[in-house]
Amino acid sequence: MAPTRASRWSTTGQPRRINVSFEFFPPKTEEMERQLWEAIERLAPLAPKFVSVTYGAGGSTRERTHATVKRIVNDTALTPAAHLTCVDATRDEVDAVIRNYHAAGVRHIVALRGDPVGGIGVPYAPHPGGYVNAADLVAGIRRIADFEVSVSAYPEKHPDSPTVDADIDMLEAKVDAGASRAITQFFFENDLYFRYLDRVRARGIMIPVVPGILPVQNFRQAKNFAERTGASVPRWLAERFEGLDEDLATRKLIAAAVAAEQVIDLVDNGVTDFHFYTMNRADLVYAICHLLGLRPATKAAA
Ligand code: FAD
Repeated sequence: MAPTRASRWSTTGQPRRINVSFEFFPPKTEEMERQLWEAIERLAPLAPKFVSVTYGAGGSTRERTHATVKRIVNDTALTPAAHLTCVDATRDEVDAVIRNYHAAGVRHIVALRGDPVGGIGVPYAPHPGGYVNAADLVAGIRRIADFEVSVSAYPEKHPDSPTVDADIDMLEAKVDAGASRAITQFFFENDLYFRYLDRVRARGIMIPVVPGILPVQNFRQAKNFAERTGASVPRWLAERFEGLDEDLATRKLIAAAVAAEQVIDLVDNGVTDFHFYTMNRADLVYAICHLLGLRPATKAAA
């Protein structure tokens, strides 16, 4: 077994404690808002370490992200993490957002460079008066206040990056700038994650690299995401969802089985922290968390 991995059992023979975090996106319509809050209310009793809210391309959701994060602070006992990118904004504009979050009680930011204004595939050009990349943004956030800062990591490398090593250079720069956790892009083959983790650790980067898990609620949509983000979709996964486009009930069962298989294998190899891309839906994520041994806080305490 690689030295970076532990088993699912602690030295006292007890299963290791599992920590989860949930990612949501800010809603565009009232219906989506209702769906988001249903999901948050269903998942909140599982006591996630934090819940994060994404920031739309080019800051397009700035107000909605802010409003969602603020409501999480005001109306729930959850710890929010606000995503922030540096696309198409000056340092002053980004700094104002950071200060606003701090004033609202937010203490955790997921700092990202973001996608180019022209869309994925167009070379990224920093705003002339803006933060040049994610590492620069992390440093800016840390200068403003004592935020906890999480950043991205790419087990299959970011599409802009020539090599995995170049990608890990960027991760190292983000850690040197003050990031204390990396959350990975989703992946479906756990070996990709473990190989990446071994390379990260071999470079002396010791922060938690939390696997990002995408439960496949909709295979076509997941495949589209994967194409845009450089994540691979194994043939076996496509085969499992083959012929189920019109069969939601079976699709859900398969999705649960696929995600269960993935997280159990990660746990068996010593992973204790998981970040779920919820797509603002609770059912599948709730079921997977149950499988991981999480129970609603009140029942667990009883
Ligand atoms: P970085 O870590 O800064 O860079 C990724 C790779 O690209 C590195 O290898 C780096 O070397 C290379 N690179 C960077 N800049 C250049 C350049 N100019 N030329 C060549 N190579 C370069 N996007 C959003 O818009 N909103 C979100 O809320 C959001 N949340 C995310 C959360 C997670 C956990 C993850 C994994 C991604 C998220 N993204 C989000 C997507 C992210 O913004 C894109 O993947 C973006 O293209 C890269 O931003 P980054 O901070 O991940 O990049």
